[in-house]
Formats: sequence, structure tokens, C-alpha cells
Amino acid sequence: MLRNAYAKGHLVSINPATGEELARYPVFDAGQIQSCIAQAHERFQSYRRIPFAQRSAWLKRVAGILEERKAEFGRLISLEMGKTLASAVAEVEKSAWVCRYYAEEAEGFLAERSILLRNAYANASDASRSGIRYQPLGVILAVMPWNFPFWQVFRCAAPALMAGNTLLLKHASNVPQSALTLEQIFREGGFPPGVFQTLLITAAQVAEVVADERVRGAALTGSEAAGSSLARLAGQHLKKTVLELGGSDPFIVLPSADLEAAVATAVTARLINNGQSCIAAKRFILHRAIAEPFTAAMTERFRRLKVGDPLDPQTDVGPLATPSILQEVDGQVQALVQAGAKVHIGGSPWGGNFYPPTILSDIPPDHPVAHQEVFGPVALLFTVPDVSAAIELANGTPFGLGASAWTTDPEEQERLLEELEAGSVFINGMVKSDPRLPFGGIKRSGYGRELSREGILEFVNVKTIWVK
Ligand code: NAP
Repeated sequence: MLRNAYAKGHLVSINPATGEELARYPVFDAGQIQSCIAQAHERFQSYRRIPFAQRSAWLKRVAGILEERKAEFGRLISLEMGKTLASAVAEVEKSAWVCRYYAEEAEGFLAERSILLRNAYANASDASRSGIRYQPLGVILAVMPWNFPFWQVFRCAAPALMAGNTLLLKHASNVPQSALTLEQIFREGGFPPGVFQTLLITAAQVAEVVADERVRGAALTGSEAAGSSLARLAGQHLKKTVLELGGSDPFIVLPSADLEAAVATAVTARLINNGQSCIAAKRFILHRAIAEPFTAAMTERFRRLKVGDPLDPQTDVGPLATPSILQEVDGQVQALVQAGAKVHIGGSPWGGNFYPPTILSDIPPDHPVAHQEVFGPVALLFTVPDVSAAIELANGTPFGLGASAWTTDPEEQERLLEELEAGSVFINGMVKSDPRLPFGGIKRSGYGRELSREGILEFVNVKTIWVK
């Protein structure tokens, strides 16, 4: 995706609500990158031996800092990428939650396990003791997006650091202030220098980091293009990766659903983060029996929303994060309208980076945009005759991140859980991330998992131990 955040060798922080430049920082040169990798690698040799209790104490202190200073950090996030202040503060609180979760649970998740060789397999081993020990891999690179500048980083960093790895952050180029603040928070929490470092680098410089032998793995949250580029590099250098990429999540509503709850949730699920969330519901697949009242109620709710200054507590939807995102979203909307889509509300930019909540229906299902991710406050509505058609349409995209479906019929629920092609399926609720539940996608939404026990196992050596 194009950005305006690189300028003459600098990363520039720009308030998307006003266009005002907030700060700029020189991009690291090769020497600075090398020095950070060296420090991360050297620190790993001692940090890996620090007991869980100490790492946990530091991470809880980080959680405490986040909780105490959530208003300050929330304002920074809101100024830098445009989400509403309330949602930015909520993001900081959630970041504290994931820190506390891994601070409490990591030791149990990574406790050594013995494997008893019994019964039919008893003769397969002559060990007196065998089992699994989980060990950190080393320096991990985290390439992160701007849309949740704190949460995305913490959900990657909290398990990685609790497992004993050290981390290098390459944050999105338009949120350098958040990136530097995160490094500061880990230092203030007590983590030794070199455990968590921010690299102020461009996307092109990621190649140099991935190629370095001391870097043992990489996580990327972002677009398909970025994920595919990182996977290519990592493949070349044989590095473990976790990719959390885009989504075009379906939101299916069937006749037995509680329509009022479904509409209210649909509005939140589409407009969360000004419409810029990977797991936002993007395609609303409506059974024909409820399509008309659903569309009318959703349109009415969209009409009542206030778009404007993200720092104003009355605002529901702020600006898109950069002009290039707005151009892309508007281009997708105009392409659908030209192909015959009906505009129920919104449909053209408001000036600056502001795009109104938009609802489109009568979308040709084969139109390329119907298979893309629309990363803004735009709901695409489709009508289907039955649950089979709903599932077929839901699965008919290259993505497979999340899916939400609304029905009170137990047979339909079971069928949807079984047949929807997605990393997570939520029935009668909106897709959301939760430290206790695995999060990730299939198909072009990526691979690997974050959060829960699955998340912490991604960057560890599952070492088989055998003793006679
Ligand atoms: P993006 O353009 O892919 O950027 C994400 C990160 O990747 C940034 O740090 C970016 O750096 C870097 N990057 C871009 N191209 C790269 C390349 N060729 N090699 C290495 N790094 C590269 O995505 P975005 O526009 O910031 O974020 C929106 C996307 O992220 C959406 O598709 C959304 O669905 C997805 N997302 C997914 C999840 C999930 O958990 N699945 C969560 C949030 C967002 P620069 O900023 O310097 O370009």
C-alpha cells in the first residue's frame, strides 16, 4: 500500500484528521540496524536464562504502566492514526490484559512435559526418560501494522518475550511515535536493554534483517502483499514465520436470528477502528427473508453516526489513516457503483481523510472487488436464498480469517461451524480477538496462530529430550 509517511529519509508521523505533521525521525542506516541486531542477539544469551518469575514481574510492570497511562497513550494512538480516543484507550487496556495473561500463564504453557511410552508402543523406546522441553529461538523480528499500533505489538511481544526470545520491532512507517513509545514502555517496565528494540526502518530494509543469521524468526501482520514478500525472504533464508494478513470476513444472518442484536452488532463489526480492522465484518450475507428489514435498520443506524474529530467524545467514526487508504477504498466503491451496485448511504469522500459510513447492495458476486478486502467503513450486502448459498458465498473469497453467523437453529449452527472456511467462526457474536483464544487465518489470510497457548508455541523450539 502506498504511504506518505516516508519523506527524504525520514519516517513521518502525520495526524490523519488534520494533515498536520506531528514528528519525523531519520530512518536507521545499515550500521544502526547491525548494532540493534547484535544487541538483541547478545542479550538473548543471558535473557533466555532469566527465570519465568522475573520475566513475569517485568511484564506485569509493563501492564501497570499501560493501565496508569492509558489516557496519554490513547491520545498518542488517536493522533497518529485517527481512531477514536475511546477506542484507543480501550486498545491500551487490552494490551495490558494480554501482558497480564502471558505473565500468568506462560510458565504453565511451556512447562516441560514427559512422554510416557506405554502399551503397544512400549518397545519403541529404550529411554528411561523422554519428553518435550520448550526453549526460545532467539531474536524475532515483528513487522507490524498501524491499525492497532499497541495491541498488535503486545500480542506478538508478550508471548515472545515470556518464552525467552528477544524482539526487534519494525512498525508501520506512519506510526513511529507509537513505535518509540513501545520501546520506552518495555524499558520502564524493567526489561534489560536489547530485549525489545524498535527499528526505524523502511519495508525495503526488512530484507536485511531477515537475511541476518542471528534473526531466527519473523511475524508479520499486514497486507497479503507484505506477507507474501516476507514469506519469500524467509523461505530463502529458512526462517520460521507467522503471518496474520487481511480478511474479507462474512457476516451471515439467517431467518431465526435475533435481528435487532444482529443489526446492532453488524454496525459495530463493520465500523470498528473506522472500518480498518482485519476481522471487521466486510460482507453481509443476508437470507432473503430478512434482507429488507436488516438493510433498512442498518442504514438507519449508519445515518445516526457522527463522523469527525477522533478526539471528540461524541465522534463514532474518525478519518482513515492515510490518503492512500482513502483513495483505495473510494476506488473500490466507485468500481462497484459503476458495475450496478445500489448505494443506500454514503458512497463518496467527504474531504480530507474522511469517508462516510457506506452501504452497498446489488453487488455482482463475480466483481473483483467482491473478492477483495475493503479496508474502510463500507458494508457490502448480498442476498441469498438459503444456508447453503450463504456458505458458498462466504467461502468464495481468497481469504479465511474470521466469520460471524447468526441463527438460533442448532443444526444450522453446527453446519456453519463445520463448513465455513475461516480461522475462527463466531455464532451469534462478532469476531474478536481474546488473549485466551487462538487467533489466525487460513488461505490468503496467513498461517500460524497468535494468542493462547498456540501463540506462545510459534517461536519456541519444541525440543525432544531422551535420557537413558
Ligand atoms: P501493510 O502495508 O502490509 O503494512 C504492514 C507492515 O508491513 C508495515 O510495517 C509495513 O511497513 C510492512 N511492509 C509493507 N510491505 C512490506 C514488504 N514488502 N516487506 C516487508 N514489510 C513490509 O499493511 P497495512 O496497510 O499497514 O495494514 C492493513 C492490512 O493489515 C490489512 O490487510 C489488514 O487486514 C491487515 N491486518 C491483519 C491483521 C491480522 O491479525 N490478521 C491485523 C491487523 C491488520 P511500511 O509501513 O513501512 O510500509
